[in-house]
Amino acid sequence: MNFKKYINIVLLSLLLLLGSCSDKESTAKDKEQEELIKKEIRIPAGSSLYSELEGIGLTVPFIVELITALSNDVDVASIKPNSLFEVYLEANTNEFKKISYVESPIVSHQVRYEHGEFHYEFVELETEKRVRIIEGFLYGTLSQALSDKGVELAIRNQVNHALSSKINFNRQAQKGDYFKIIAEEQYYLNDKMPGTKLLYVYYSGKAAGKVEGYRYQETDSKSAYNGMYLENGTAMLSSALRLPLDRVQITSRFGYRIHPISRRKKLHTGIDYRAKRGTPVYAIAQGIVVRASWNGGFGKSVEVRHPDGIISQYAHLDRINVRHGQSVKAGTIVGAVGSTGYSTGPHLHFGIRQNNKWVNPQNYKMTSATKLEKARMQAFKKQIEEIKQKIDSLPTDDSDPLEMTTLERYRRENSKKRN
Ligand SMILES: [Zn+2]
Repeated sequence: MNFKKYINIVLLSLLLLLGSCSDKESTAKDKEQEELIKKEIRIPAGSSLYSELEGIGLTVPFIVELITALSNDVDVASIKPNSLFEVYLEANTNEFKKISYVESPIVSHQVRYEHGEFHYEFVELETEKRVRIIEGFLYGTLSQALSDKGVELAIRNQVNHALSSKINFNRQAQKGDYFKIIAEEQYYLNDKMPGTKLLYVYYSGKAAGKVEGYRYQETDSKSAYNGMYLENGTAMLSSALRLPLDRVQITSRFGYRIHPISRRKKLHTGIDYRAKRGTPVYAIAQGIVVRASWNGGFGKSVEVRHPDGIISQYAHLDRINVRHGQSVKAGTIVGAVGSTGYSTGPHLHFGIRQNNKWVNPQNYKMTSATKLEKARMQAFKKQIEEIKQKIDSLPTDDSDPLEMTTLERYRRENSKKRN
């Protein structure tokens, strides 16, 4: 394909466009300042990267090649509305040079066009990690206490999720219970970035007893094993499964049935729930999205792999809200009820796959005791030591009162008064 020719046409049309849309242009800040023009594109809901690129004057064949190149490394189909793209054009010739999909303030995917070839580059800015300790006593709910200390929602959820695997807060939490968490925040040029991680959680109460957990992390940031664990390697997974809908009414169960469309006897591989188009669909438990795309007769589908290896499936969706590789929690909205694929009307088809076989979701219980074993356990022990060192290096004054002797408590109170 002769791109030069297309680019020449683009050139002409861009030159004509330049006068009318100069307010949309801004020059790149770095050394490319003199040579490149940057155009920022935010894809509105209902539009696509394709039509937005057409809107800035790239030709159809070139756009097809460009998107194909980008989709080798980025799941283009599930890019959310309003995502930012930066297109760099040569200032003098208006030749296409580079496109950058800005996934977050620190992560971007770049595709350069050079000598008729596309080159992909994953760019992640180095962030500064800051460790913060938050501790205190309960006077209302734990969430409230954490919130009052400025702990963001995502971390409060992680803390609640981890601790609720061991503590029944409704029954066991009491005024005066002690908690301590360690969070690792990411900063870029003194701006706090998303992606704060809970490293350590400790809770101690008369009725709740003592619970202590540490983060385990693999180099693959998408590993299903990443999460909070007790020191013995048992995952702190809340065993409560969320239902995929707020209100469930089963219209068709798992098992053999006469298919409503084909009229043939066929295994119905999941449960159908009655629901209106657009009803939010939730992930039933924590996991990683392993599919967020069209899947034949299932239509628009989402599949989530959970830490115990099981995959939950949400099919015939009208809309998909997650992307491939994204990690979700129990209750994360994965999409909306629809009737895409082989379907007679809006409903949710919900399936569960275990060892590559569909099983009856109604018989399924999350095997909550995911354990770290062998090499993973060895790696976890090392990570625990690192976290303990971080804890020791942090200033603290509210030690667990249940762990202190009367004398220690007396000393602490007095040293506080002196300060
Ligand atoms: Zn179904």
